[in-house]
Amino acid sequence: MTTALAEMPTEIGPEQHSSNIVETDNLTKWFDVGLGLFRGSLHLKAVDGVTLTIKRAETVAIVGESGSGKTTLGRTIIRLLEPTGGKLLYDGQDITHSAEKRLMWLRRKAQMIPQDPYSSVNPAFPVYRILEEPLVIHKQGESKEREEAVMKALQAVKLNPPTFFANKYPHMLSGGQRQRVAIARSLILNPEFILADEPVSMLDASVRISILRLLRQIQQQFGIAFLYITHDLATAKHFADRIGIMYAGRLVEEGPVGSVLGEPLHPYAQALMGAIPDPDPANRLVVRQSLPGEPPNLVDLPTGCHFHPRCPIAQMGLCDVKDPELRELRPGHRVACHLAT
Ligand code: SF4
Repeated sequence: MTTALAEMPTEIGPEQHSSNIVETDNLTKWFDVGLGLFRGSLHLKAVDGVTLTIKRAETVAIVGESGSGKTTLGRTIIRLLEPTGGKLLYDGQDITHSAEKRLMWLRRKAQMIPQDPYSSVNPAFPVYRILEEPLVIHKQGESKEREEAVMKALQAVKLNPPTFFANKYPHMLSGGQRQRVAIARSLILNPEFILADEPVSMLDASVRISILRLLRQIQQQFGIAFLYITHDLATAKHFADRIGIMYAGRLVEEGPVGSVLGEPLHPYAQALMGAIPDPDPANRLVVRQSLPGEPPNLVDLPTGCHFHPRCPIAQMGLCDVKDPELRELRPGHRVACHLAT
């Protein structure tokens, strides 16, 4: 966001800017879950080898069932969690294992919009203080400049007149207004990148579209890159430039929205497509087949392709033995399936 604070010097970060805001290479995030009989340490493999690039001002949606690892991936990318393995670059700088005290610049440049705006703000603070707090923590500007930044942020999320909303407490606002406050807070430090983790899933259907439109408008107006985490392909379709489909800690398909949704190539993505309700028959995607079974236990993953126990076209002897790699089968469109062509 362009405010008086945008001109202020920042702490040490990358000296030259990369065209990619985020790059991950074989990124993993495992959690220790104790000892298994005969098998030593057990790990819950929430993120298991994700290679992904997010360009500046681009919106990438990560879609998957609950437990697919999408939220852990998002939190690892903004270093709320430390990766277990692989590499994580932010703006070209390797932050895979950077200590927290060396990440203050990242805490300004990469923000998060939470799923539940009510739990993420102090209910005892008025909106003004909620929005001013990050500026105070990051020692941004004097009181007058901070006030100007708060008013601009409220205007950016269409909470007008801003002085009226600045004096409200969270419990005095509707769910949609509270989420707008959470979005304003994510904008207040002029971020380059925002992790939006299911930002509309707790809102009424009537409010969801207006919040997604607002996010799209903000993305275009301020050139912010978004990582949009969702289980809802229909909203990803309207908000994102690219989509990654995640299953059992891995990306199984990734590419431009039109290509992935227009011609899903992975059997799991094809099954998900059937779940998109679209009132416009012209946009309705083909229902391929319903998906049998449950997502796998992330502590005890199937061998070979993690999807093979549920896959309707799995070839035993191949799919249960060999891990499929992400291969580019259409321009910019990668698929991890032995049989996809
Ligand atoms: Fe199905 Fe095999 Fe492709 Fe996995 S690799 S999605 S099991 S066909």
